This record gives sequence, structure tokens and C-alpha cells, in this order.
Amino acid sequence: MVNSKQNLITQKSKGLYCESANIWIDPYKPVEKAIISHAHSDHFSKGCGEYICSIETGFLLRKRFGNNINLKVIDYDKKLLINGINFSLHPSGHILGSSQIKIMAGSEKWLITGDLKRQKDNTCESYERIKSDFLICESTFGLPIFNWESTDKIIDDITNWVSQSEDSTSILFCYSLGKAQRLLSHLNSKNFKNIYVHKSIKKMNLIYKKFGVEHLEAKIFDNDLEINNLKNNLLLLPLSLNNKNFLKKFKKVKTGFASGWMSIRALKKRSGFDKGFAISDHADWNGLIKTIKESKAKNIFLNHGDGESLAKFLRDKEDFNIKQLKEIK
Ligand SMILES: [Zn+2]
Ligand SMILES: [Zn+2]
Repeated sequence: MVNSKQNLITQKSKGLYCESANIWIDPYKPVEKAIISHAHSDHFSKGCGEYICSIETGFLLRKRFGNNINLKVIDYDKKLLINGINFSLHPSGHILGSSQIKIMAGSEKWLITGDLKRQKDNTCESYERIKSDFLICESTFGLPIFNWESTDKIIDDITNWVSQSEDSTSILFCYSLGKAQRLLSHLNSKNFKNIYVHKSIKKMNLIYKKFGVEHLEAKIFDNDLEINNLKNNLLLLPLSLNNKNFLKKFKKVKTGFASGWMSIRALKKRSGFDKGFAISDHADWNGLIKTIKESKAKNIFLNHGDGESLAKFLRDKEDFNIKQLKEIK
């Protein structure tokens, strides 16, 4: 990329690449050697020769994508030297095991944030502030309209939503990895009957538990359950079950979706859910600005989402050398 004397990290059609170490970061396609920032499927591609990641991410990857992947796991903060380039992983606060990737060669220091969050989350380590010369920061929610409310406020909203309808089942759709565990760590069913989770969520809960994350108690929702005994209960289910065939099994049901995207009113309306809860595991507008400023980086690249507004804002206001990375097809 521009301004890097050594051109340490370049952007290619398969993703971000460090040629000096022949290593890819969250590649979109199979490669020889990949560093994986976290275990969400859009950051993982099957068929790579070797995967390098945090210990927690390693466990999650095996559970999600099979045991026969060639893994090399490293602790946060530990250095891994490949061809004279120093790699290390640092918490990004997004989900269990999620990592920022620091890459150093000589005096040049790069940081790739991966997906990150600045709000506190009991289910994963908090974002670690790191200074760098070159920053590649995610910008999934890089618009000023994204301004998260506190987790407590959203949890209260969800609790009220469930407890208000004693005669129907409340289904809250959410991602099985990360969001579900974060919600469970805060929710408590004292204002309604019980919380049930889909088995895909339970599977992830067990790994969280293994790493010391408690308070994820919930009953398992499966097909043997008498579906109409679930009135006044909260069900956390993956989005794949948001279809008419499944929902028509319930006599009375209402649906919600927990996602940062639910802060866009038009999207909320179009999505068809009865209710949207805007809770995200990504940084919002102010969280991104804080992250970029704290890095003290002289060269900033925005990755994922539409970062044009954020780039323009920081260029105009702070005179930052910042640009959006365009996807290379
Ligand atoms: Zn993610
Ligand atoms: Zn992502």
C-alpha cells in the first residue's frame, strides 16, 4: 500500500497479504498460510494449508469447521516470527478469541484491527489499545447514525418486550456465536418464564464456558418440545429459522432481531421482524473515531463496510491520511 517503504501489507483479491512472510489475513479463498482474526464464517475460508489464530479462536474454528484443520494457536501478546517479520495477536473485544493482528518489520508497525468493539462485553477480553504507524481499521458501522445505546438499556428493552406478552412466545433471532452469548450473560428470566436456545448456540456456549465465561444458562430448544408450552418464554434462535414454515408451528409468536443494523429504521421496517434491538459487536461511529485517534497511526485504511463518510470526516476535520480500501475483484 501507499507510503509503506517496505510494502509490508498489500491488498489482493484474496484479501490482505504480507508477502515478506507469505501470509494472508482472513483470506476469502484458500491459501497456504492464513492468520484468522476470529471464528465468524465471513473471516474464514476452508481449505487453507495452515491457520494461525488465538487459542479460543482455534477451539471455535474446530467446532464450527471440523477437526481436520491444521491449526497453530498462539496466546495474546506472544510473538510469532516468520521470515523476520514479527506477528502478535491482541484482543479486539468483538467475540471470544477475536484478535487484532500486529505486524512488525524493522521499525515499521502495522495493526489490523479485525472486527472490533469498544463497548464492554463480559464474554470476551476488552479491546486493547495499540499504537501503530499503519492502521487497517474495520468500518462496518462507519456512519454517524450508528451510535449504540448501553447494553443495559437494550437488555431492559428485550426483557420488557418478552414480559409484556404472557400469552405468546418471543423469538429473538441473533448470531449463534458472540451475540447470543453476550445477550445470555446479561439476560435473566425473572420477569418471564425461561430462556431457551437453539443447539447451535448451546454448542458455542460450552466453548465459552470452557474458557471461564459463566452465566450462559439456558434450556435447549429442540423439536421434541411441545411448542405451545412456550408461552411467555424467550427463545434465542439463529436467523436460519426465520422462515414461515417454522414460525407457523407456533400458535402465537412474535419475532425480534438483535443487530446493529436494526438502528436503521427503514431496514427495521423492511426486515419483517416485529421488533429490532440495536445491539452490535462492532464499534459505532464514535468508537471507530476513538480507535483511529488512539492508534496515532500516520496512515489509515478502512476495511469492510462503507467507510467513505468516516474517511472524509477525519480527512476534513483532523487532516488524517485516511482512505477506504475497495474490494478487489
Ligand atoms: Zn465478526
Ligand atoms: Zn466480520
